[in-house]
Amino acid sequence: MSNPYRALPSVDRILQHPAVAPLRGRYANGRLTEQARAVLERARAGLANSSRSPADLAELAQAVIAGIAAVDRPPLRPVINATGVVLHTNLGRAPLSDATRAAMDAAGRSFSNLEYDLAAGRRGSRFDHLSPLIQAVTGAEAGLAVNNNASALLLSLAALATGREVVVSRGQAVEIGGGFRIPDIVRQSGASLVEVGTTNRTRIDDYRGTQGAALLRIHASNFKIIGFTEQPSLSEMRTVADEEGALLLDDLGSGCLLDTRRYGLSPEPTVQDSLADGADLAFFSGDKLLGGPQAGLIVGRAELVAKIGSHPLARAVRPDKTTIAGLAATLRHYLLGEAETQIPVWRMIAVPLDALDQRATVWRDAIGSGTVIEGRSMIGGGSLPGESLPTRALALTPSDGANRLADRLRASEPAVVARVEHDSLRLDPRTVDPSEDEAVIGALQRALSL
Ligand SMILES: *Cc1c(COP(=O)(O)O)cnc(C)c1O
Repeated sequence: MSNPYRALPSVDRILQHPAVAPLRGRYANGRLTEQARAVLERARAGLANSSRSPADLAELAQAVIAGIAAVDRPPLRPVINATGVVLHTNLGRAPLSDATRAAMDAAGRSFSNLEYDLAAGRRGSRFDHLSPLIQAVTGAEAGLAVNNNASALLLSLAALATGREVVVSRGQAVEIGGGFRIPDIVRQSGASLVEVGTTNRTRIDDYRGTQGAALLRIHASNFKIIGFTEQPSLSEMRTVADEEGALLLDDLGSGCLLDTRRYGLSPEPTVQDSLADGADLAFFSGDKLLGGPQAGLIVGRAELVAKIGSHPLARAVRPDKTTIAGLAATLRHYLLGEAETQIPVWRMIAVPLDALDQRATVWRDAIGSGTVIEGRSMIGGGSLPGESLPTRALALTPSDGANRLADRLRASEPAVVARVEHDSLRLDPRTVDPSEDEAVIGALQRALSL
């Protein structure tokens, strides 16, 4: 029997294979050669461990191409969100408005006055840029942005309450999601947590006599305690904060600036209400209902915002220039009263039912199967827990099962993510941009013909 190792081609022969040759010269530092060596190494190991016949040249060439392709492709693949969950944290929360994307692109392209006072010709602060716009749209005295809302909370407590106590209702000392636990954040800030009340009921008197540096309210953004419950209002908490000489801090989670009741949803507390009801500071995310890039906003009393911005930890959680530019563009939509038409998450919330019915029907007619059914779209992403909007969805019940079809749709380019419910696959047009309708139809046609 001939030596099977001899049958393996050389690195050079693999590199000269017509499928691999066009890639030569594309990668730096002999990356392609390294890849070919690694593939050969594996083939040799495979021969040593089994009586497998040696891989042929074409197979080895394909392995080299697949290996380099796994490295050389954008890590984030576009996904069409047909789940009907408007703020889907796993799918990247808020898609950005045209103006927001343009502003981020422009900020990335050139130098800017990020930390430079152009009038004075000296160093400036990146934390100052957003304050006027935040004032204008929220009514706050001042505001700044950090990396996300978790860091907004961490930084603010570090700046204002280290070595002191922060008072939180037991029903609000919760996990927000992804292992983000309020008690951990409070401890990491150097403050200590004092829980008051019980899981379902906290009365205003529970906050009295705690002598904490701050009373912290956490918005129940991803769960609901129902039944025999009680939580004092923010205005009641303001009264106690004044008696105790404590700050009143409000973690809103989703930074809602619009009245959600207009869309038949229950009222999500707005930033404006939080400040009007007496919060010294409110914290919220940039990429939830605000509809902008990932960020955390800290808004409220100017003197506190200044103190937070100059804390050493601010440097560790500072936003990038593209984030500042994108947030400004998103906030400007509110300034101009055009949030519902320009910001994708609000467009999705505001879209009328008959438009959804029409699009689901177009999808069905194009693929020639399925039923348009009544369904509910969720807000998600730590906003309006348990709340939903009426929608129309395309329901498909393929003979080989809804999960198999869901798998095939996720494998398409772009990937389509849908919901499986009661053995049927549901595609909700609410969270699909109309410009993606063609791609949804194409993906469905391919997935159904397989
Ligand atoms: C989502 C959420 C956070 C965390 O916000 P990120 O921007 O994801 O860091 C904190 N608090 C509440 C109440 C939230 O809903």
